[in-house]
Amino acid sequence: MFFRQLFDSETSTYTYLIADEASKTAVLVDSVLEQVERDQKFIAELGLKLGYCLETHLHADHITGAGKLRELTGCINIVPFGANAACADRKIQDGEVLQIGLVEIAAIATLGHTDSHVAYLVNNTHLLTGDSLLIRGCGRTDFQSGNAGALYDCITQKLFTLSDSTLVYPGHDYRGHMVSTIGEEKQFNPRFVGRDRTDFITLMNNLNLPNPQKIMEAVPANQRCGQAA
Ligand code: FE
Repeated sequence: MFFRQLFDSETSTYTYLIADEASKTAVLVDSVLEQVERDQKFIAELGLKLGYCLETHLHADHITGAGKLRELTGCINIVPFGANAACADRKIQDGEVLQIGLVEIAAIATLGHTDSHVAYLVNNTHLLTGDSLLIRGCGRTDFQSGNAGALYDCITQKLFTLSDSTLVYPGHDYRGHMVSTIGEEKQFNPRFVGRDRTDFITLMNNLNLPNPQKIMEAVPANQRCGQAA
C-alpha cells in the first residue's frame, strides 16, 4: 500500500493519500480546496488515478477539495452516513469496508465531534481518526451537534480497543505532531488519562474555544462538497 500524509498549514489540516499499487487507484481523505493543485500534481507524478475522495466529517474549519477534484478527475465523493451533503455520490456506514485492490478501508462511526463522523481503519494498521481522537487531544464537541459523552464512548470503547500498535493519523495537529499509536494515546492523552466519562464531559463543556474563522462559509460549502452555490 502507498500511504502519505499531506499538510495544509493555514488550517493545520492533514490530508491522506492512499493507493493500491497494483491497480494504481488512489483515495484522498479530507482534502482541502486550496491544496487541490498540489494533490493533483502529486497524484499525477506517482502515476496514480484518483478513484475516491473520502471525508471523515463535514468540516467547519476548511472547505473540502472533493467536489473540485470530482470535476477534474471524475472521482467518487464519499461522506459518512447521516452527513447532510446531498452532493455526495455515496455515503459510508459504520462497519462498511471500501476495498480497493489490496487496500481495505473500514469505516468506524466515531460520533461526538459532529453527529456524523467516521474514522477510517486502513489495512488494520493505519487509523485515520479525523477530528475524534487527536494526538494528545481530541476534537471539540461544542458545535455542529457535537456531544462530549458520545465522543468519550466512541474513543474509549471503539478506538482504544484496537491493537496498541495501530498508528493514529489525526485530521489536524496544532503542535507539530504527525503520528501516534493507540497504545501511546491510551497512556498519555491528557483528555482521557485519569478522567471518567463525567469528568471528560465537564472538561469538554468548559473549553470556551473561539469558533473557527471559516465556520460560516465552510459548513454550507462542505454540504455542497466544497463547490460554489
Ligand atoms: Fe472538524
